[in-house]
Order: sequence, then structure tokens, then C-alpha cells
Amino acid sequence: MIQCADTKQHPPPAKPGEGLLNSATAILTIDLDAVIANWRRLAERVRPAECAAVVKADAYGLGALRVAPALYAAGCRTFFVATIDEGLSLRPLLPEARLLVLCGVMPGTADEFTAHHLIPVLNSLEQVEAWADRGEAALHVDTGMARLGIEPTGLARLGGFRPVMVMSHMACADEPGAAMNRAQLEAFGRVAAAFPGVPASLAASSAIFLGPEWHFHMVRPGAALYGLNPTAATPNPMGQVVRLQGKILQVRDVDSPMTVGYGASHRVARPGRIATVAAGYADGLFRTLGNRGHGFIGGEKVPVVGRVSMDLTTFDVSALAPEAVQPGAMIELIGPGHTVDDLAAEAGTIGYEVLTALGARYHRRYLGGEA
Ligand SMILES: *Cc1c(COP(=O)(O)O)cnc(C)c1O
Repeated sequence: MIQCADTKQHPPPAKPGEGLLNSATAILTIDLDAVIANWRRLAERVRPAECAAVVKADAYGLGALRVAPALYAAGCRTFFVATIDEGLSLRPLLPEARLLVLCGVMPGTADEFTAHHLIPVLNSLEQVEAWADRGEAALHVDTGMARLGIEPTGLARLGGFRPVMVMSHMACADEPGAAMNRAQLEAFGRVAAAFPGVPASLAASSAIFLGPEWHFHMVRPGAALYGLNPTAATPNPMGQVVRLQGKILQVRDVDSPMTVGYGASHRVARPGRIATVAAGYADGLFRTLGNRGHGFIGGEKVPVVGRVSMDLTTFDVSALAPEAVQPGAMIELIGPGHTVDDLAAEAGTIGYEVLTALGARYHRRYLGGEA
């Protein structure tokens, strides 16, 4: 497993052709054992509550068809997806798992839910009525997101409907000091009390770390499984899952008064070298990384210079010995010393967006996964 505490050690740069597919221009490595270890760590922390797994958006871009079966084999039994289509694609791989669909029931889809044993998370009185007691359904009550969920005042109008789970979602769980956290906890406590005997679920990744009061009967982590830091301001308790390496296509000597890339946004001040890597914004390296992001070669930090273009990104490698930076070598874009959260901070976004934007062109390698 790639541990993020391990910032001092970096693997040596790969030499051209060394064990890498020659055709791959960028390699995304997804450590399924690290996902499993993260799930076990959370499951341990919340016991006796159940630890589910949120695998919506293709398991945050990492491949739900690989991630979900690996977690099932490790003992996870409940999975959340966003859409019915995501549920349908997972069902053949997870015939026995509980699959809940967060977006709930769209008109005309109820029969599909029952045919495939998908459990809708009903978000409104209209959805509860449309479902009309066809089978198991969860109920999402809004306690402060104003996004999805029935308002607590609407509960009185539910009639005899009895959900298999009642849930809500936190707005500020990544800010432990936010007053809203306790307000939502109390609001949800009242909701849960209105459904005696029905399992309750409030916490996603960050709220797990607010404390046991937030755990109720089930927690629903996504981000933390994939190695993002659920505790924002403190060191990441999760293991790193993703490694991204981009191949150097070309290294060129530059000198003042040259400029680099579109818009000539980087002016070369002194003699140096620029390495061009085969990944750009079409691969999820956001344009905001231009003149702000970093990669690593053999543990040395190399800055992005110039704008990120669609298929290419340029790095200033002047500080490294020329032998260390040759075409065909890899620059580490995400790895032990430069996590998804680090890259996200440089790009001005959050790790969630970096993961879900990881490009379709990367050569994907999965490690482990046989629990
Ligand atoms: C996405 C989502 C989660 C998982 O959130 P993380 O912050 O990734 O752990 C849990 N519950 C609901 C309702 C969600 O939409």
C-alpha cells in the first residue's frame, strides 16, 4: 500500500521501457488493497455500526466494477450509487449485496428497481407516493443541505410508509468546529426517533471522524475509501490509493528570452530544460495547474511551467541532472509525496473533483483486490 506519511521515500524514476507498457503515455495505478485497508480501518472505527461503501460516479473515477467486488470480498455488504444505471451495471457483479440508489425513483423506473433488487433512497413525498410500497426503500430526510431529501416537517404526511433505512447528509462535516454539525446531529436524532427500530445513517467520510455520536447504525464513506483526507486540517489517517505517472515525450533546452506554451505565460529567465509530459486537461490535469502545479522525479519536485494544454503539460526540470530526465522516463503527478489532495490544492479544487476527472486515456493498472 502507498502510505502518504511516507513522504521521504520515492521510487526511482522509471527508465525508458522498464517494465512499462511502451504504448502507455500515462499510467494510473489503483491500489485495491489500499481501498480494502481503508474500508477495514473505517469499519473498525465505527463498530458496531455498519460500514457501507459509496461507489457512485464509477467509484469516484477509480472503476466501480473493480472497486465494489473487491470491497464485497473484504466483507462490505451495502453499497450506495447515485443513479439507477450505476446500480444496474453493478448488480451482476454483486448479486447478493444491498445496492441503494441515492437519486431515488424517477417516474417509470419503479419496476426496474424491484426487478433488480435495487433499493431506492426516496427523497420527497412524491417519490414515496410513486413508490407505493413496492418493496424495500430508504428515506432521505434533509437536515440542512437543501439539496435532496424530504423536510422533517413533511414526515407527518408519510402515512404508513416504513423505510428500511432513514438517512441524512452533513453539510460541514469537514469543519469539525462548525456549529451546523451539532445542529444537524440533533435534527437527525429527532428524525431517527420518529422511526423506532429503523436503521439510521448520517455520516459520510468526514462525519465518521466527528465522533461516535454521528455513526448511528450505518456510515456511508466514499472519499476516505479512495485515500482522500476526511479530516482536512490534520494528517490523513487513510492510505493512498492512486498513483499517476506521465511519460516524458521530449526534453528541450531553453534560455532567455524564450517562452513556454500557449499565451507565452512562462518566460524563461536563464538556461534550463523543459520536459513535456503526455497528459493534459483532457486527462483531468486541470488548466488551473498551469504555472502552479508540481510533479516529482526521483523525489525531486519539478514545477509545472506554462499553461496546461489538452494533451501535454510542461515541467521545469533544470534542477535535475540531465541523465535523470530522459524521454520515456516518468514524472509522478500523483503519488506518495504528492497526494490527490495536494494536486487538488494546487489546482484550486478538492480531491473529489480530481478523482472524478481522472481521464479515460490513462493506462489503468489495478493492484491487489483479492481480499
Ligand atoms: C457522496 C455521498 C456520500 C459519500 O460522501 P464522502 O464525503 O465521499 O464520504 C455519502 N452520502 C451521500 C448522500 C452522498 O451523496
